[in-house]
Amino acid sequence: IPAAPIRPRGRADIPEWTGKPLSPYDDPHTWKFLGEPILLPKSSEDPDVGSIGKGRQDDCNCQFPGSIACVRFHVAEKKIELKCELGSAFYEMGFHHMGEDLALTWTKDEQRKFNTTIQKNLPSSRSKYNFWDKLRAVFRSKGRKGLVSYYHNVFQVRRRAYQNRLTPKCPDSDEASIEPGFLHNQGGGQSSRSSSAASRTRRSS
Ligand SMILES: [Zn+2]
Repeated sequence: IPAAPIRPRGRADIPEWTGKPLSPYDDPHTWKFLGEPILLPKSSEDPDVGSIGKGRQDDCNCQFPGSIACVRFHVAEKKIELKCELGSAFYEMGFHHMGEDLALTWTKDEQRKFNTTIQKNLPSSRSKYNFWDKLRAVFRSKGRKGLVSYYHNVFQVRRRAYQNRLTPKCPDSDEASIEPGFLHNQGGGQSSRSSSAASRTRRSS
């Protein structure tokens, strides 16, 4: 029987037999994909699954429960609580970049300009979805990440609040149908009436 030719490239990389099976955690390649743990779960953690998505169950002591001020107050309250609880993991997980208060890092002028840029470059049948290119050109210093973050954390939340007042039962986040009335009236920097979006955030904290 002729010996099988050995092809240098066809050989498998078989580790030396040490007598005991290799744990995947001993392998540096495995570590590369596992990453580093930021937050280790507490063993006693028992999430109250039943209350998720049902909104605030207890009464609050606000003057006008359910008002914008009330919702904002509780969102802020929970955010501070979360910050204390998570410590540095709060920042590592990017929670400081989330929520409508991201708008605080944008000037009123910038917010107004953001809306006008979208308004002037709304997707039409001839040119589709071109406002992102324009936004990037207008706000070079914000970077793509900053713009996308503002769009989802602030712009869409305020837009949803606007829709809540007009058509509460028809939420629409489609870029192609951004309401001209919203862009025109919410020139930026205005306080939003984001009760529904905020209450969702509230329950998830
Ligand atoms: Zn309240």
